[in-house]
Amino acid sequence: MIDKKITELKGIGEKRAAIFQKKGITTVEDLLYFFPRTHEDRTKIKKLGECADGDEICFRAAVRMPPQTVRVRRSMTVTTMTVEDDTGSIAVVWYNNPYVGTLYRNGEEYVFFGKIIRDKRGKRQVVNPIIEEIGKERFTGKIVPIYPLSGSLTQKIVQSAMESALDAAGDIEEYILEDIRGRFQIAEINFAMRNIHFPTDAKSYEIARRRFVFDELLTLQLSLLSRKDGLSKADGIVIENTECCGDFINALPYKLTGAQMRTIGEILKDMSGGAAMNRLVQGDVGSGKTAVAAAAIYTAVKNGRQAVMMAPTEILARQHKETLDAMFDGMDIRVSLLTGGMKKAEKRRVYEAAELGTADVIIGTHAVIQDELAFRDLALVIADEQHRFGVEQRARLAAKGHNPHILIMSATPIPRTLALILYGDLDISVIDELPPGRKPVKTYAVGENMRRRIYAFVEKNVLAGSQAYIVCPLVEESEKSDLKNASDLCEALAASYPDIKIGLMHGKMRPKLKDEVMTEFLNGDIKILVSTTVIEVGVNVPNANVMVIENAERFGLSQLHQLRGRVGRGGDEAYCVMFAHGDNDVTKMRMKTMCASNDGFYISEQDLKLRGPGDFFGTRQHGLPEMKIANLFEDRDILKDAQDAARFILTEDGGINAPKYAALKKRAENLISDDVVMN
Ligand code: ADP
Ligand code: MG
Repeated sequence: MIDKKITELKGIGEKRAAIFQKKGITTVEDLLYFFPRTHEDRTKIKKLGECADGDEICFRAAVRMPPQTVRVRRSMTVTTMTVEDDTGSIAVVWYNNPYVGTLYRNGEEYVFFGKIIRDKRGKRQVVNPIIEEIGKERFTGKIVPIYPLSGSLTQKIVQSAMESALDAAGDIEEYILEDIRGRFQIAEINFAMRNIHFPTDAKSYEIARRRFVFDELLTLQLSLLSRKDGLSKADGIVIENTECCGDFINALPYKLTGAQMRTIGEILKDMSGGAAMNRLVQGDVGSGKTAVAAAAIYTAVKNGRQAVMMAPTEILARQHKETLDAMFDGMDIRVSLLTGGMKKAEKRRVYEAAELGTADVIIGTHAVIQDELAFRDLALVIADEQHRFGVEQRARLAAKGHNPHILIMSATPIPRTLALILYGDLDISVIDELPPGRKPVKTYAVGENMRRRIYAFVEKNVLAGSQAYIVCPLVEESEKSDLKNASDLCEALAASYPDIKIGLMHGKMRPKLKDEVMTEFLNGDIKILVSTTVIEVGVNVPNANVMVIENAERFGLSQLHQLRGRVGRGGDEAYCVMFAHGDNDVTKMRMKTMCASNDGFYISEQDLKLRGPGDFFGTRQHGLPEMKIANLFEDRDILKDAQDAARFILTEDGGINAPKYAALKKRAENLISDDVVMN
């Protein structure tokens, strides 16, 4: 019975139970799903003569010299005994544990498990090994689980508790039906549970692990997908004529890339297919997502419908408006801008136009989610640079029409694997090709000794007519740190280059002021923009070709890549210089990756790899539970299987609500607690 309290297990009293509870473990079931971090192989007993330094091994040896304790410092004792088998001998050492001196008798044999090392004089020793008496071995001969512990729980306590838990659990009820297990080659729960903790061999462990990774990802997928069920299966507005899009494409001043064409094709198919579109378009910075969005808008409008596009900042909204006006020139499409900063009367005019249908397209900031905005016939909702919007805002936009088609444009380089999870409800198009002729941004990681030269380089470029960004981690000086801050740096630069106009922008400024500064930079009045990461998102200033990033060690890989995407948008050679401090390995890898690649998808994968499963930027922030066993990077093949399985279940008769899935459904519901629900 897995719902028993752990206090019913042997050796777990109230006090220990309280410690387990801190880890969220109160029942036998909780305990069983507390998976080991790694295992120690104590199946093979080696001879002392055949093991090498650094080996972590089991050996069987007799005590030749019983433990003796010496005090080496006031606060430290060392206890040593010598043991031997018929091939050699070794010293067994304990620090600050003189009590062991009474435990081991001369001539007696024991089994030891530990790591073979050398002391300062080159003598072999093993420190604080695990020792079992012959005839009373518990873990010798087994592969032993090592749990992710901290605090007062020891491996021994958890290992024993786990053994009792497995016994107490008895026959665990399977919740992944045989049909699905067969299809995806997933082990049965009782086999898997035993072998994830105490595997009989490496192969059994792999099989067990695969089951629980699949299990975890399937549960997650089900909980996400079934929540979104209503959204993704709704009947949609049928856009009958998709042929007309060709007129728009032919009128563009450039030829679309293959990836842009493919994505447009996928969108048009969705919009004419009868169900409401829910599509995420992922494209690296500069891959030309705006033209793709415009093609969708054009088609909707030429079919007599309306579209709305939401951008995360005023300046981006305005840029989109200008871009669309130019693209739709002479095509009889009326685009209106709606931003929070507009006067009431102006806004009212836009509301009216949307409601009467005299405006075909509304482009705006968060202002477009306000209730005042209503449409005559909204068919298409586009959210640009989606990562700045919550899922809820997306839903509110969608509520303005009758199941409008939804298109989300994202330049956040989320690896496909993670996108599959985060956007399990969405179809995904990837624009994995840049327009021809784009040169990669030349990227360098430098130290302080290069500072003069780098700033001289910035000056030279600016005097030659281009512009530069300088990015700092902080706005103002903070007492404890020697990080570069934007305000001071801006002042210092202004003093050094009196003839160059330098601007300052950061998140603490009022939106209106930020907007003014950005507009001045866009117009070319400001030559050097000193800024915090507020410039990260989507702004297009093609004349800026140099970016300097101060304290680059403070930024994540994906963020650095986003920042770098602000330059290299014109035809000129572009440069990104990162000042990185410290010799942290992760920082070094980040810098290396940035210098080696301009590919956002590659970079985000590296980011995921470097960060590991628990702390990838997206997961917490998006309200996903922390993965217990799945590694989103390593396990992406299993993720694919889990998603297929989830889709299979949801499209079956009765879907997840079919009685046979009751247990699985309950697990899915319990996974994401209500306060972090995504929509
Ligand atoms: P992002 O995907 O980052 O939103 P944009 O849509 O802003 O990229 O496009 C970046 C730049 O590339 C724009 O100046 C746009 O005019 C240009 N562009 C887009 N598609 C093409 C193409 N197929 N050929 C040439 N230039 C293109
Ligand atoms: Mg864009």
